[in-house]
Amino acid sequence: MDLIVQKYGGSSLADAQKIKNVAGRIARAKDAGNRVVAVVSAMGDSTDELIELASQVSASPDRRELDVLLSTGELRSCALVAMTLMSLGHKAISLSGAQAGIRTDAQFGMAKIAGLDPQRITDELDKDKIVVVAGFQGITPGMDTTTLGRGASDLTAIALAAGLDASRCEVFTDVEGIYTADPRLVPSAIKLDEISFEEMLELASYGAKMNPRSIELGMVYDTPILVASSFSDVPGTLIHGDPDMNRNVGEIRNRVSGIATDINVAKVTVQGVTDRPGIAAGLFEPLAADGISVDVIVQNASAGGKTDLTFTVKRDALARAEGVVRRVAESMDSDDVVTSLGLAKVSIVGTGMQDAPGYAGTMFRALADAGINIEMITTSEIRITCIVSEDQVGAAARALHTAFDLDSPR
Ligand code: ASP
Ligand code: MG
Repeated sequence: MDLIVQKYGGSSLADAQKIKNVAGRIARAKDAGNRVVAVVSAMGDSTDELIELASQVSASPDRRELDVLLSTGELRSCALVAMTLMSLGHKAISLSGAQAGIRTDAQFGMAKIAGLDPQRITDELDKDKIVVVAGFQGITPGMDTTTLGRGASDLTAIALAAGLDASRCEVFTDVEGIYTADPRLVPSAIKLDEISFEEMLELASYGAKMNPRSIELGMVYDTPILVASSFSDVPGTLIHGDPDMNRNVGEIRNRVSGIATDINVAKVTVQGVTDRPGIAAGLFEPLAADGISVDVIVQNASAGGKTDLTFTVKRDALARAEGVVRRVAESMDSDDVVTSLGLAKVSIVGTGMQDAPGYAGTMFRALADAGINIEMITTSEIRITCIVSEDQVGAAARALHTAFDLDSPR
């Protein structure tokens, strides 16, 4: 008998009718002869509502108490799903994260899973029950409730799939799968049948919605993840570890899997710093000390012993980054510090790019032909990213989608 872990997101559980729909799907997996563990998120936007409620009673809610509060969202869903399953004539039981054996460290709001003790789950499965687990939460060695970070019910599901050695993890959401681009920007975006963990990681951290830590976990434990819609029976996208996917049936393999976009970009330029050893360290160490995560970094070739250093951060970190930079810029006798919002990232992503030439050239040509100026460029083995102006990001994504032959089904 196969063990399947399913996960249902908040939008799939937003009201009683949707909960019945989800229960029906869980029941189908069980009726097909599987052992089934279902991980559920909080109903609809209820996590946001709980955060809002907390902010009405306290300017800075205590982090431990906030986790107790937030964990109730998922508890509500798992009890409701379990009772719906019972009303459909199935044996079912709901378990909190703690009861399901999800052990974490004590970083409230962002706890890391430290271990798994799924004995209770296995016992209940042995009694022929469907086990419904509250996502996004765990318990510390000191028995305090923790949450695992926004969107982290995915993480619960994949950790359980790995820990229980499930044949796969199925993540049900309100879209049909992973797309070649954000369909709101690129109307011709199409759903991918499959994608590698590596590619998905680049897409996840560059806009497409799926908790990046959960993809990493799936990759480490080699647990395939199916992302599909809870509202239809359209086959979803399988995220898996095989890089040699058969996209090349009868044709040259398309090595670009998707176009990622992200408009959460701001830039800081430190102008005219003296070009000597220690300048970059002197700038980026204090940024790191303040917990500011820096993304793309470009240092210009120096002229007359002076150079410009530019880097990007997330928009909500711009004010803090600017503060830190202004503090240290003086000691570097920099001429000025300039910042700008209004930028975006557009990336091409594909595992097959790593040992094939020409991708950068094709990308830059497509952007040039669309009249788009590239401000900064950065690459990884399977990704090339350009920083462009925010108002051109849609046009850039569409041009690249066409240039890399992603417009028509493969
Ligand atoms: N309910 C939590 C959130 O909204 C966890 C999740 O949905 O995965 O972030
Ligand atoms: Mg949610």
